[in-house]
This record gives sequence, C-alpha cells and structure tokens, in this order.
Amino acid sequence: MYQAVFSGKLSGNGMFTKKCQNFFQERYGFKKCLLTTSGTDALEMAAMLCNLKPGDEVIVPSYTFVSTALAFLREGAKIIFADSQEHNPNLDADQLEFLITPKTKVIVPVHYAGVACDMDKIMDVANRHNILVVEDAAQAIDSYYKGRPLGSIGHLGAFSFHETKNITAGGEGGLLVINDDRFIRRSEILWEKGTNRTEYFRGEVNKYGWVDMGSSFLPAEINAAFLWAQLEHLDEIQNKRKQLWNKYYELLSNNHSANYTLPELPDYATNNAHMFYLVFNSLEERTQMIQKLKDAGYLAVFHYLSLHSSPYYKDKHNGCSLSNCDRFADCLLRLPMFYELTIEDVEKICSIIKG
Ligand SMILES: *Cc1c(COP(=O)(O)O)cnc(C)c1O
Repeated sequence: MYQAVFSGKLSGNGMFTKKCQNFFQERYGFKKCLLTTSGTDALEMAAMLCNLKPGDEVIVPSYTFVSTALAFLREGAKIIFADSQEHNPNLDADQLEFLITPKTKVIVPVHYAGVACDMDKIMDVANRHNILVVEDAAQAIDSYYKGRPLGSIGHLGAFSFHETKNITAGGEGGLLVINDDRFIRRSEILWEKGTNRTEYFRGEVNKYGWVDMGSSFLPAEINAAFLWAQLEHLDEIQNKRKQLWNKYYELLSNNHSANYTLPELPDYATNNAHMFYLVFNSLEERTQMIQKLKDAGYLAVFHYLSLHSSPYYKDKHNGCSLSNCDRFADCLLRLPMFYELTIEDVEKICSIIKG
C-alpha cells in the first residue's frame, strides 16, 4: 500500500490493479478480469453486458443477497425467483426448465457458501435455450466444480472482496470475469465511464471519447494494493479457514442428539471454507441457539430473508411458494468464521452447541 501511495498513481487501472487481474487470469484461467469497487458493481456490469430489454426475464435464486436480483432489475428485467434444493441452499437445477419462457435471457446461479451449483446441468439448459449464465461467485473464490474454477464456467462471473469474504480489497471490492469473447471490448468501455480509454492506453486509438454507457466501476489503487497483499497470502488464508471448517465439521458431526444438519458438499464441489452453517429443525430452535451462543459471548447470525417475499418485491413475485428457500431463511445459522478465529474458539463453540 505504501508502494501505491508513493508511486504517485492513486486512481484506478494502475500497477496493482493489473497485478491482481493477471493473478486471477493466470491462477484460474479466467479469460479477462476487471477489478471493480464491489461485487454488486461486478454484477451490475454483467447485467449491462447482457443487453436486456424491458420485460426480459432473469432467473435468480430467492435465497441470495439483494444485489444478485437488483443488478438485473435495474436493467429493466423481470426477476423470476427459483427455489433452493432440499438439502442445499443453491438453486435447484432440475427445476430450471419449468421457469424458462421465451423471454428468459439470463440465469444467475449463486454458489452459496462457496459451494458450486450443478453447473453442467445449468449450462446444458442454458445452451439449449440460448440463455446467458452469470455466475454470482461472490463467496466462491478458490472453489471448484469438477476441477473447474467457479467463475470460469458461465459467460460472465462476479466475485466480491467485501470484508466479510475470504479475501478483501480493504473493505470493499469485486471482480468481473469475462469468459465469452463477445463481451470483452464492451466490458472495458463500461468500466471506464463509457469511454474507450483502455484502448487509448494500449495505443490502439490516438484519442479517446464517449462511445457507450458506463460508470466508474474501477477501484482506486489503494484497494487493489490491499487486495494484492491478500493474494500473496491466499494459500495461507485458505488453509487456515479450511482447518477451522474441518474442526467444526468433525466436532459437530458426532452428535447423536443433534437438532440440526450439517452443510452438504456434493461430489462435484470443493469447499473454500467461506462459511460454516447449520440448519436447525425449526426457527425456535435456531433462535434458542443464537441466544445460547450470545450468552457465552459468541455472535452467530442467520442469513438471507427470501427475496421473493421481501417488502420491495413481494407484490411483483408470481405468487409461487418457495418452501426450501423459506426454510433456509428460518433455520440456517452461520457460526463464527474468520481468519483470526482460533481452534480453541471452535472447540468452545461446538461444546456450547452440543451441551
Ligand atoms: C457479498 C455478496 C454480494 C455483494 O458483494 P458486495 O461486494 O458486498 O457488493 C453479492 N452476492 C452474494 C451472493 C454475496 O455474498
């Protein structure tokens, strides 16, 4: 970060931005990477690239963060909410076919807790119906589907480097991944406020100007430098998180009187230890556990409220009940998971849960 400050170049698209983008391209084989100021921004850029017309439909899981839906709603899309699987908060790929209409333009799978959606099934449905796929990989850095990095499978992918994610760009940050050549040129223009400045910097044109839509999606060099420092320690960060995750799993799986289930990892998915959660049998049991942990000084929190019944969207939703999603909204509990957490903390938390 001192380097970023003393280099005299603080605005975006400098040395650290390029270092981070190259890192992701090389490590994960992403075709083209653009750092953004947030995961939300990366989703908004992806939505703009999809070139939607009013009335176009976009399929989004209801169990996700607001931005997954909002980015597409801002582009005039109608959001069609999909339910979760029975034992996994990710969207149910077997139900997709029933949600598709001639107006469906995009499917947005969210890799909840960094665990992959069934991408072969999703890409197969999408390709048969000529639909784009934008992976919301906000939680999914360094996680894989059948050996392929998440974010590299759909036409576009979005990551978040918010402070709550595995790695952060100093509080807020994100990454747009472009895997389809058709979107590369336009993505650079949207990123640079609707100008072809990136082409000018590369010497491809002798002046730059206003050529399209866009916004200021690129982060300052300070944030890129912060992210670079995290990338230099990515394996160390990931190993630590996986140790904590495995400890939770080991201690909480041998509990015969458990009133919860543990996260399910499909054969095709890896675990990037973004989150450790339990799914309780009822809302009451989850509420009791939150209180029990709070009394012992530990903060465990629930997660998303179903977007299809949110105050902002419930009147626009088609009325379908999404019961798996509602159950995760009521019963899922996230246990503390961050780099500074210790194995002793995990042991204490588990003994409270089992006690
Ligand atoms: C964190 C998150 C986002 C938003 O990322 P920000 O960087 O906070 O804008 C979007 N989708 C999902 C699934 C997330 O977890």
